Amino acid sequence: MNTNHFEFWPSSLSKSLTVPQTTIYDNLVISAKRYPDKTSIYYYGKSITYKQLLEEVEILAGYLEKSLGIEKQDRILLLMQNSPQYLISFFAILRLRAIVIPINPMSTTKDIAFYVNDCEIKHALVGQELYDKVKPLKKDTTLKNIIVATYSEYIDKNKVTNNFPTEVIEKPQPLSEDISWSNALSEAYQADYYNGLNDDIAVIPYTSGTTGIPKGCVHPNNTLQANTVGGALWLNVTADTVTLLTLPLFHVTGLIHSALAPILSGSTIVMMTRWDRDYAAEMMEEYGCSHWINISTMLIDFLSNPKLDNYDLSSLRTIGGGGAPLPAAVGEQLYERIGLRYIEGYGLSETISHTHFNPPNRPKLQCLGIPSFDVDARIIDLVTGNELGINEEGELIVNGPQVFSGYYNRDEENKESHVELDGKLFFRTGDIAKMDEEGYFFLVDRLKRMINASGFKVWPTEIESILYKHPAVQQACVVSAPDVKRGETVKAFIILKDDFIGKITENEIMEWSRNQIAAYKYPRIIEFTKTFPTTTSGKILWRKLQNS
Ligand code: AMP
Repeated sequence: MNTNHFEFWPSSLSKSLTVPQTTIYDNLVISAKRYPDKTSIYYYGKSITYKQLLEEVEILAGYLEKSLGIEKQDRILLLMQNSPQYLISFFAILRLRAIVIPINPMSTTKDIAFYVNDCEIKHALVGQELYDKVKPLKKDTTLKNIIVATYSEYIDKNKVTNNFPTEVIEKPQPLSEDISWSNALSEAYQADYYNGLNDDIAVIPYTSGTTGIPKGCVHPNNTLQANTVGGALWLNVTADTVTLLTLPLFHVTGLIHSALAPILSGSTIVMMTRWDRDYAAEMMEEYGCSHWINISTMLIDFLSNPKLDNYDLSSLRTIGGGGAPLPAAVGEQLYERIGLRYIEGYGLSETISHTHFNPPNRPKLQCLGIPSFDVDARIIDLVTGNELGINEEGELIVNGPQVFSGYYNRDEENKESHVELDGKLFFRTGDIAKMDEEGYFFLVDRLKRMINASGFKVWPTEIESILYKHPAVQQACVVSAPDVKRGETVKAFIILKDDFIGKITENEIMEWSRNQIAAYKYPRIIEFTKTFPTTTSGKILWRKLQNS
C-alpha cells in the first residue's frame, strides 16, 4: 500500500518529474551559454560571471588532466571552505568525470586520513588554510598530489569579516600558463564528454549512517540532478532568484539548494564563508536576496539580532531549510518579523538532501513535510517491519530518484540499510517518524545513536573511543543533551578510575578532548558518575542516561 497523499501537493507542479538525462556539469554549461555576462557569484565585494565561472572550471580541469593525469572516476578529495574556488573545483572534477569526495573543513588530519584510505584517494584540492592538515598524509596514505587554492583573487579584502584566511600558507602550484579556456582539455576529452554520462558517480559524501562508522554515500549524476531540478521547482528557483549561501558546501543541503539549484536556473548566488548575522542581513539588503536556505541555529541567531529592523529585507520570498528541526516557536517568530513561513525539508546524505519538503503554500511547523517528487515514503514497525498506519510511530523508509546507489565498498551495511516492501527496495533512514492524516511527516525520535548539533552530526561511539584514551577514564557514555543554541549538544557521562577520583575535574577532561577531535564534536558537558544503568548482559542503557 502506498500511503503517500497528494491532497496538499502544490497545484502549480506536476506530481512526477522526468529527471533530465544530462549531468550536473551540463547545467553550468547551459547557464553560461544563456547568461554569459550575468553574475553567478557575489563574494565579499567581488563578482564572477557565468562565463568566467565556466572558463575557470575548464582551465582547472585542463590542469588536473594534463599535469596530474586525473582520469575518469578517480576520487578527488575536496577540502575547502565556502568560496568560488570550491565550486570551480567541484565542477572541474565533474568535468573530468572524476568523483568529488567533499570533506568537512573542520576534520582533523586523522579524520581526513580515514577518508583518503577508505576511497584510496590520490589527489586533493585543498583551501590554503587547511593545507597543513593534509600535508602529512602524503607520507603514509595513498595521497600523492595536493593542489592548494588561494582565495585572495576573489575577495575584496576590505569586505572580509571574521578572520577570513587571506594569508597564503604555501605558494600554490600554479596553473600552467599555456593552458587557457580554448585549449584547456585534450581534444579526446572534449569529444567524449556528452555521451549519456548521468550514471557516472559524481559525489561521495561521507556520513556515519545508522551505525557510527563513517561511510561514503555513492551518488551518480542522476540522483544529484533529481534533487537539483526537484529542489529548484519546489522552491521556485528561477533566473531572477538571488540566493544567500550560508550553509557549508561540503554538506548536501548547502550544495544542492544554495549552489546547484541556482546554477541550474542561471541565477545569482551571494556567497558567505563564515556565518555572521549582520553581514547576512547586509547582503540580503545590498543584493536583494530572494532565497535563503539555512539551518535552525542560523535562523535563531538571525532573528535574535537587535539590529534586524534596521535592514530592508523586503526582497526575501523563500526561507527554509533542513538537517535539524526548526522549533515551532522560531517558525512563528519568523512569520511575525519577516512575514514568511519557514519551508522545512528533510533528508540525509544518502538522499543528497531532501526526500520531504513542506508545500510552500501550506507548510506546517516543526514538520518534515510531504514526500517530494516520486518519493515513496513509508513508516514501518521497528520489530516486525510491517507497514504502519496514520499517526503510528515507526522507522521512516524511503524509495525515490535521489536515493544513493549504496555505501562505497560496504556490502554488509548496504544489506542492513535496505528493506524490501511491495517489491521495491527502500532505504532505512534510522529516524523514527509518523505521518498525520493529511500525509505530512513528523520526526519523533532517532533509532540511530546520533547527536544533531546545529546540523553537524556527531556519533557517540567515536567520542567514547577518544575519551577512553584518557588515563583517568574507566567508562564513558556519550549522549545528546538539549542546547538552546545548537538544538542538541554532546554530553559525556564518565566513571573515573579510582586513582583519579577527586584529582581531576570535568573541565580538565573537556579541555583535553577539545584538542583530540574536530571542534563541533568534543563534549560541551561532562558529568562524573559512579555507575551506569545497564542491561543484564552489561550493555549501557544510554537512553536512560540521556533522559536522566
Ligand atoms: P545528514 O546525513 O548529515 O544530512 O543527516 C541526516 C539526518 O539529519 C537525518 O537522518 C535526520 O536525523 C536529521 N534531519 C534532517 N532533516 C531534519 C529535519 N527537518 N528535522 C529533524 N531532523 C532532521
